[in-house]
Amino acid sequence: MKLETQVKNTLKKIKLSKKDKILVALSGGKDSTVTAYLLKKFGYNISGIHIDLKMGKYSKDCFNAVKKLCEDLEIKLYIYDVKKEMGSSMCYLRSAIQSKHKGTIKNCAICGVIKKWILNKEARKLKFDKIATGHNLDDEAQTILINVFKGSLQLSATSGPITKNTKDKKFISRIKPLFYILEDDIRTYVKKKKLPMHDEKCPCAIDSYRIQVRNFLEKLPGKDKKNIMKNFEKISHRIKRKNLKINYCEICGEPARGKICRKCSLVNL
Ligand code: AMP
Ligand code: ZN
Repeated sequence: MKLETQVKNTLKKIKLSKKDKILVALSGGKDSTVTAYLLKKFGYNISGIHIDLKMGKYSKDCFNAVKKLCEDLEIKLYIYDVKKEMGSSMCYLRSAIQSKHKGTIKNCAICGVIKKWILNKEARKLKFDKIATGHNLDDEAQTILINVFKGSLQLSATSGPITKNTKDKKFISRIKPLFYILEDDIRTYVKKKKLPMHDEKCPCAIDSYRIQVRNFLEKLPGKDKKNIMKNFEKISHRIKRKNLKINYCEICGEPARGKICRKCSLVNL
């Protein structure tokens, strides 16, 4: 099946409405670029947001790719400058957090938590109905395997092309239009369409456990990766999540599973 048809089917499955105001999280990479391109092509109401991590040349190149894409697609672009808003670049934030937590938390985990926190807060402030990210099938298969290896499969129970079980006025639902698309197919598509993007891995993604899992999965044919997802979807409704209640963080007021959200437990404790 063609990539565009597969994405259309995913959007139908999650019942995405043309009236929804969608904020696409644009990193500058191929996945979020294709996500924005297709949502726009299919007639959805989108704007973009880029989190400028202020990590030197890498961040500048990402920013330029995002800017060009939004100009080409004629969509509004919001910029979140980490240095201005949070006081320092992501590199500095991360090393401060790591020294506080004695290096037990990996680079990508810290960055991921902070980005999610920013996206939810900004999307709500700007009155968007949905946040779209570029996560693809390879990312999702990696997450499932990581959770299997770490004995935390219940964390995957709410994964899907749209966030489940998280209805709360402060929580903006997240969609993943490329949830069923293989990374290789996205790579081919982005080249064919000649979309502006910055094809460089984040220079800080060096120690991630995820990279080991990705290297392992890369050796498998696409069919096996698709089967990980397909077979997990068949059983995921039988996995119980412990606490689905949403509280508001006592420090920042953002949605949290416990008394304090994950971002504040990294930054403030
Ligand atoms: P990653 O975890 O870096 O693979 O990114 C997953 C998704 O998060 C991307 O496809 C984007 O939708 C979003 N994202 C990552 N980095 C940024 C960024 N700097 N600004 C906005 N969105 C981002
Ligand atoms: Zn908080």
